[in-house]
Amino acid sequence: MFGRTPKKSNSTRFYEALGISGTATQEELKKAYRKAAIKNHPDKGGDPEKFKEISQAYEVLSDPEKREVYDQYGEDALKEGMGGGGATHNPFDIFESFFASGGGSPFGGGGGRGGRKQRRGEDVVHPLKASLEDLYNGTSKKLSLARNVLCSKCKGKGSKTGASGRCSGCQGSGMKVSIRQLGPNMIQQMQHVCPDCKGSGEIISEKDKCGQCKGQKVVQDKKLLEVHVEKGMQHAQKITFPGEADEAPDTQTGDIIFVLQQKEHPKFKRKGDDLFVEHILTLTEALCGVRFSLSHLDGRQLLIKTGPGEIIKPGQYKAINDEGMPHYQRPFMKGRLYIHFSVDFPDPGSLTSDQYKAIEDILPRRTTIEMTAMELDECEETTLVDVNIDDEMQKKQQQQQEAYEEDEETTGPRAQCAQQ
Ligand SMILES: [Zn+2]
Ligand SMILES: [Zn+2]
Repeated sequence: MFGRTPKKSNSTRFYEALGISGTATQEELKKAYRKAAIKNHPDKGGDPEKFKEISQAYEVLSDPEKREVYDQYGEDALKEGMGGGGATHNPFDIFESFFASGGGSPFGGGGGRGGRKQRRGEDVVHPLKASLEDLYNGTSKKLSLARNVLCSKCKGKGSKTGASGRCSGCQGSGMKVSIRQLGPNMIQQMQHVCPDCKGSGEIISEKDKCGQCKGQKVVQDKKLLEVHVEKGMQHAQKITFPGEADEAPDTQTGDIIFVLQQKEHPKFKRKGDDLFVEHILTLTEALCGVRFSLSHLDGRQLLIKTGPGEIIKPGQYKAINDEGMPHYQRPFMKGRLYIHFSVDFPDPGSLTSDQYKAIEDILPRRTTIEMTAMELDECEETTLVDVNIDDEMQKKQQQQQEAYEEDEETTGPRAQCAQQ
């Protein structure tokens, strides 16, 4: 500013709010407002009243006329001048328009408050693979990503001088309309992005182009992100870095979003916060008890044991409380660890007839009663053959599927038969 007259009124509140002297220049004022507004923005946990005061101060002091009135006659005169009641603007609008013209979003695209419409840049979504161990223990992964940032040299203007001409191809609208004659009385009107300015509506002359970005306004940059995978996070859960996507002029920067992809685990299956593990017992273990160690996702060895008398049946589940996955954000709480037992019976012919006899003596008596000769006479002889039930069921299912595709009506009864 040019030679400011010393203040005559005792109005200092606005200067104090911004922490500047009464003789501060417009540049100093802008700088002070930028710093104070970001620091006190309610979105960043600042005091809304303080933020309002800062915005009000900037609104008045940035307008040379209003500043003059304020300096000479004080704040009350200003209120009268504005038609009573002090009809000041929304502090968020002042904030938004200041940063929109000043270039660059102060929060990296964070709080989209206030009336100003700003284009929002696209979010960038990356899948992020995580092992079950990662999700159990928590981990952080460092990732280097290429992104566009506003050119620091030209501050995203693309030109050395900051001047840019209106594109003559589209008159600055960024869009071009072409008309095509389709028939005698028919025309087709088509709108497309202006090829001269690529939709920006402005043209920077060759000699005026910024040397760093070649007039592109943005340059490629590498960004190192540290992604914290927290204990108990789920498959498909999102981890968001607000405003870290590609920057573009006059655009609120989008987010980088990582979507967790839980990898298959060779041993554990996860359902919510519960874990499932398969264990095969020998018949002897199933009957007489078992003891084995299970290495958990954090490397601990769990001792798992059943005592004699605690017979485990094929297909039975048992569970250990608090050894499942940690709950997200409450990692001291954990789900259950389920063990699904199957029993490996002895192979055919692996026991001698004496052993069969001994087993029969030990185990509970057979439930089949000896049949009389007469009863036997009334029966028909049959032969049991070995089958692979899984293969057979699969074949049946296939036939069923084919039948379904052929004729929907016949599937009802067929489906019932197959289940029996
Ligand atoms: Zn540049
Ligand atoms: Zn154009």
